Amino acid sequence: MKHRQNPGNPDTSNMISWDARKRPIVPDRPVIPFIEGDGIGPDIWASTRAVLDGAVKRVYAGGRKISWLEIFAGENAMDRYGRDNPLPEETLSAIRRYGVAIKGPLTTPVGGGFRSLNVALRQALDLYACVRPVRYIEGVPAPVKEPGRLDVVIFRENTEDVYAGLEWPAGSDDARELLTLINARSEAKGGTTVSLESAVGIKPMSRKNTSRLVSMAIQYALEHKRKSVTLVHKGNIMKYTEGAFRDWGYQTAREKYGDLTLTEGELYDRFQGKHPAGRIVIKDRIADAMFQQLLLRPEEYDIIATPNLNGDYLSDAAAAQVGGLGMAPGANIGDCCALFEATHGTAPKYAGQDRVNPGSLILSGVEMLRFLGWDEAAELVVRALKRTVSQRTVTYDLARQMKGAREVRCSEFGAAIVENMG
Ligand code: NAP
Repeated sequence: MKHRQNPGNPDTSNMISWDARKRPIVPDRPVIPFIEGDGIGPDIWASTRAVLDGAVKRVYAGGRKISWLEIFAGENAMDRYGRDNPLPEETLSAIRRYGVAIKGPLTTPVGGGFRSLNVALRQALDLYACVRPVRYIEGVPAPVKEPGRLDVVIFRENTEDVYAGLEWPAGSDDARELLTLINARSEAKGGTTVSLESAVGIKPMSRKNTSRLVSMAIQYALEHKRKSVTLVHKGNIMKYTEGAFRDWGYQTAREKYGDLTLTEGELYDRFQGKHPAGRIVIKDRIADAMFQQLLLRPEEYDIIATPNLNGDYLSDAAAAQVGGLGMAPGANIGDCCALFEATHGTAPKYAGQDRVNPGSLILSGVEMLRFLGWDEAAELVVRALKRTVSQRTVTYDLARQMKGAREVRCSEFGAAIVENMG
């Protein structure tokens, strides 16, 4: 059995700290906690670690190195801390302390106290933005003709909306009581009523949480010299929640980034449609139309900011457009920590077979290296990964869609990437 982590007495010289703009200040040997994850987690983590260490070693020749610290969640936490403790406090405090961490997928234990460990992690650490870059890796089989036209980063609000966990089953006393109150209010205003036997859920959305998400998206657009931020909402139907998301988003842009942003209307009225350098265009789209837009006019979109449910659907649809979740990176980011993660699940039927594609976790690691400011190492991984795919050396999921592919194991795919760094 592995030892428990020892959170006492950390060496602060190897800890990430934060500047006034909430950017990480990174030592040359940062301690970065990792959660292997359940199911296929250990396989994809082993491969990812080899690739990230290989790139850092090659680029910085020992001048920089990640000191990995294993922390536990899911099955391996329950083995060590007890069956009722899949997310120990030690794990949360290690992520808070070290600031940046990476994780494999986690099974949600059936009958446990959590709806989902991933949701619990996001809530406990206030990781309010789920960030999903979606760009095409040349050679990956994709369902559209020109997958390379899509290059967006989706900022999905992580803490509110119908994901808040506020719902009651049909016929329960709580549901009836709530619906009685709601019906009375609605009737008094001449509105509709609903059956007291309905299930009911609440969709909270706040100015504060919308504003911090949209700020993060605009900040990212500015730092990465992107052109636009699109607010995606269903405000035509849900006026006080999704509609308010749109209004608060525009308000945040105006009040916090007035000199650095402009609306689509201003772009045409004041600049005759010619994009002024250094300014971010803020626009909005209705969610259903946005699904069409990403397929039909993908190059018109850049950074996307959206509430939780829209973001959930849109991230997976966009990932599918460029070749699927097997290669889609992700991160959950807050003001004092960031957790990078594979976007797919634990694929239990492949657990321990060294078979699946580690691409999603490797590319999440790439995003982590960029977040640390280690861009040269990040670029090296991307170049080597592209070269490996172009050589048609791929895992089963891609091999079954590619002519003439050489199917390799998860670990062999990682090793091929490291070899291609040369
Ligand atoms: P899943 O684990 O993502 O697997 C569904 C299918 O996707 C697999 O059978 C496989 O397809 C394919 N797949 C997933 N990862 C792959 C990879 N790395 N390489 C190649 N193919 C891959 O979804 P699920 O079966 O619905 O969920 C299983 C568990 O994961 C659940 O307990 C769920 O709660 C959890 N989950 C966790 C996270 C997270 O931790 N972030 C996210 C989603 C789900 P083929 O069968 O076609 O080969």
